[in-house]
Amino acid sequence: MDRHIKIIATLGPGTETYEAVKELVESGAKIFRLNFSHGGREFFAKMVDIIRRLEKETGLTLTILQDLSGPKIRTCDVGLPPFEVSKGGEVLLGTSDKFEKVEEPFICLDIPEMYEGVKEGDPVALGDGVIRFKVIKIEEEHLIRLEATNSGLCPPRKGITFPGMTTPLAPLTEKDKADLAIGMQLGVDVVAMSFVQKPEDICNLRAEMIQYGRRVPIIAKLERIAALERLKEILEEADGIMVARGDLGLELDLAELPVAQKRIINACNNAGKPVIVATQMLLSMVNSPMATRAETTDVANAILDGADCVMLSEETAIGRYPGETVRFMRKISYEIEAYMFEPGRLEIDRGGERDNPSTFLAYAAAMLAGKTNAKAIVCHSTSGATTRLLSSCRPKQSIYALSSDHTVRHFTNLSWGVIPAEPLVVIDDHQERAEVFVRQSPVFEEGDIVIVTAGQPEKGKSVTQTNVVKLYEKLSKEAS
Ligand code: PGA
Ligand code: MN
Repeated sequence: MDRHIKIIATLGPGTETYEAVKELVESGAKIFRLNFSHGGREFFAKMVDIIRRLEKETGLTLTILQDLSGPKIRTCDVGLPPFEVSKGGEVLLGTSDKFEKVEEPFICLDIPEMYEGVKEGDPVALGDGVIRFKVIKIEEEHLIRLEATNSGLCPPRKGITFPGMTTPLAPLTEKDKADLAIGMQLGVDVVAMSFVQKPEDICNLRAEMIQYGRRVPIIAKLERIAALERLKEILEEADGIMVARGDLGLELDLAELPVAQKRIINACNNAGKPVIVATQMLLSMVNSPMATRAETTDVANAILDGADCVMLSEETAIGRYPGETVRFMRKISYEIEAYMFEPGRLEIDRGGERDNPSTFLAYAAAMLAGKTNAKAIVCHSTSGATTRLLSSCRPKQSIYALSSDHTVRHFTNLSWGVIPAEPLVVIDDHQERAEVFVRQSPVFEEGDIVIVTAGQPEKGKSVTQTNVVKLYEKLSKEAS
């Protein structure tokens, strides 16, 4: 049986052959992330070819997620060797023109805008949070004095963050625009935007997409405190969310990360939008065939929290055991999903903020499926909205989601429990399309009960919402 959680595998040098990607597909990965922070057009084009070929060969929907780098802020190299700072030690942070004038240990950050609004007492984190500082004095414009709050090594060209600050840098850089052009040409299915801070960021990306004549769904990567503060509005604009724990864990006090993850997931579940939990899920499997207890439990807990997707980064991109890692993730999901569906465990209390008839019908479908022990739910959902509603009710049964639009199918593939499919016949009647699917698909056998839902177009209305829920029994060929 298919698992409900969706596994996202990042592709990289560790998985660059047809055989390697095929192994990931066979192990259960359904979504493939092209990380545009590493690699160029040639590699991505090759990966897209491989995935599309595998899609044809397996009949599965495989989704390609383009991940744009965004403005990752790095210090620059002024020729200083890496130097040691000890707790309580002071260093200067400034633009390269200040370097000549100072005698003290110096960290160079050549983005003048980044100094705007920095004040005494603000935290600064260097090298993926390994060393943390506190601003103790603004010496002059573009030169600030820091005090280390722990000891460590300061090499050049390290990531630097000002936790909590809204940066004036647009999350869509020139590199991102060029990369987006590549992604659109290659026909990616979903685009993830890094370092989103406000809903307008999503609108800007969407506007940039328009020139390519495509409206590809956008995932907002939450990795800034500013974004958490505007989660609700960002969620309205974005099509889905990624809990980007790598960078978010740097911005927040790391101890706050688990609660942030739970709150974000909850908000997404309530909005009926897919949410991805990412970074360090099974990190030790980069070098080891076996995960740690903590990682194993983290994956299970992310699923229990309500994630739609769990994501692997280095584990599959550069790891030594990509296939094993995906299979282990699937194995964990098998165990935890069985637990989720133990009687009385999974309380469906979602969608409270979306009191409308289609929500009620989605609940009715999920409940009916559970009570009748149906084989599956089959829905026809032209836009994918009904599919997401059904998914957010977290039924035990898989949701076969029919849409003739491949963009819709590739995006609903991110939603928990959803198996996208193409209608087998294209007729006006959407409910009939779903019933034909049950009659003709080899997935269903004679006597199977299937819950069918559809948004049946009504005369004079252009927008269609779910308005039919039906208990459907597959009859023998003769009878039908
Ligand atoms: P990244 O995003 O891997 O592109 O940095 C994910 C994260 O920050 O967790
Ligand atoms: Mn990140």
